[in-house]
Amino acid sequence: MDTKYIFVTGGVVSSLGKGIASSSIGALLRGRSYLVTAIKIDPYINVDAGTMRPYEHGEVFVTDDGAETDLDIGTYERFLNIDLGRRNNLTTGQVYQAVIEKERRGDYLSQTVQVIPHVTDEIKNRILEVGRDAHAELVIVEVGGTVGDIESLPFLEAIRQMRFEIGYQNTLYLHVTLLPYLGTSGEYKSKPTQHSVATLRGVGIQPDGLILRSQSPIPEETRRKIALFTNVAAEDVFTSYDAEHVYAVPEMLEQQGMGRFIERRLNLERVTPELRVWQQAVQILRNPDHRVSIAIVGKYIAMPDAYLSLLEALKHAGIANRARVDIEWVNAEDLSKGRLEELAAFNGILVPGGFGVRGIEGKVGAAQFARENGIPYLGICLGLQVAVIEFARHVAGLDGANSSEFDPYTPHPVIDLMPEQLEVSAMGGTMRLGSWPMEIFPGTELSTIYDLDPGQQHIVQERHRHRYEVNPLYVETLKKNGLVISGVTPGMEGRGEGLVEAIELPKHPFFIGLQSHPEFKSRLMRPSPPFKGFIEAAVTASERLAGKSAEARA
Ligand code: GLN
Repeated sequence: MDTKYIFVTGGVVSSLGKGIASSSIGALLRGRSYLVTAIKIDPYINVDAGTMRPYEHGEVFVTDDGAETDLDIGTYERFLNIDLGRRNNLTTGQVYQAVIEKERRGDYLSQTVQVIPHVTDEIKNRILEVGRDAHAELVIVEVGGTVGDIESLPFLEAIRQMRFEIGYQNTLYLHVTLLPYLGTSGEYKSKPTQHSVATLRGVGIQPDGLILRSQSPIPEETRRKIALFTNVAAEDVFTSYDAEHVYAVPEMLEQQGMGRFIERRLNLERVTPELRVWQQAVQILRNPDHRVSIAIVGKYIAMPDAYLSLLEALKHAGIANRARVDIEWVNAEDLSKGRLEELAAFNGILVPGGFGVRGIEGKVGAAQFARENGIPYLGICLGLQVAVIEFARHVAGLDGANSSEFDPYTPHPVIDLMPEQLEVSAMGGTMRLGSWPMEIFPGTELSTIYDLDPGQQHIVQERHRHRYEVNPLYVETLKKNGLVISGVTPGMEGRGEGLVEAIELPKHPFFIGLQSHPEFKSRLMRPSPPFKGFIEAAVTASERLAGKSAEARA
């Protein structure tokens, strides 16, 4: 079969949930056993998302091959249950960088290099290459931004041309828009959608189908009106209304006939999809057996998207434990102002990854509070580093211990820059990134969590994004004082046993720190082991608390 392309554009406003819509369509196709891949086009000039502020753009997602991508790549991986890489996130920066390099090399000798055809050819080739290399039957291509933006024009032009090159039966254009509801007049307003489709037509693309983001299912009459004004058949106008859980969106679209529509338009066989995993997840979220409350101690607490994969991993872990996970965002800076006691109310404390000194003492305090009070603790990347700092200061007696990232003059740099980083000055794509092996030592809590056979050597792969590491010069001292190193990346120069990947505290219900970010690999179908173990410990903690308060009442 020819590779077929589904192009998803967006209109009216940003943050419409285009990524969720694209991913949900991917889930419907994967549920039909197709080989699917996905591309996110980001029309900004940055080469990748690695140098952008999570506070504005949400988290930087990391792939196995070490790309720092837009968070939608993570959503695709989770919904499609596939691994993606660097080339699945295409930006203006990459396209122009490649075109300019080719021009300097002389590849376009004697020609005037222009947006059409040189830039658009580069875009098309990159899209086609991704489909070809993945041996995909279907490729979902989401164009970021909003139709009408100046910077997205070359991409829209490229996808317009693709229909002529690979055929009508191999291309499908879907447009996602906002359908606002005006409470005062009690109606849905279709005008923004009409304008948005008109703008899209202005660049030569007539959408085959529409997905309207709305508050609730929309009246038939509204659907017909929109169809009439946009030249889209009424049955090809879908709504993605506010859902209680995002995992309900694939099913929501399927019930409206989205799968059938794609099959019809792209000449695919009619198949009944397997969507059980999504249905079960929604069921558990609606009727959980347990409830746990987790404190996330971080910096970007007003922007949950800055921790999207982390939140998803917690949700997956919750579902695996039939538990609802209630998240409380705790500002690390508040904790350093003597508010640590508030953490006693939680069934688990999580310190996520992060950069920069702001809030560090609050995070160190949170790790100490978790250690001393037997509260389950999961430290991710920076969360491992602060746990080591805390342990060094208060258990190993290394006064003033710190990371050289936060205090270059600390007497005890228990966390220090990796030697490979000493020469690095450029910021983009220069950290220790992507998938690295972790050898897990037998007999540790971590080996139980990863469900490894006792007595065997075990290597797992997790994704990384950091410049600092546990200083190998302090490992012996930390161990002597009771810190367990449960995982290392073996075979790295000058690191003793290896680069410290994981630590834990024996005689604590659950205290684990990881240098990696296991949240990036977590899926509904394959919850991340450390997250699953953490939530399991939190369930036990919550039951103990409930037992205690019942006793007190009796
Ligand atoms: N800032 C720390 C480092 O670079 C931690 C990074 C992280 O948490 N992702 O090592």
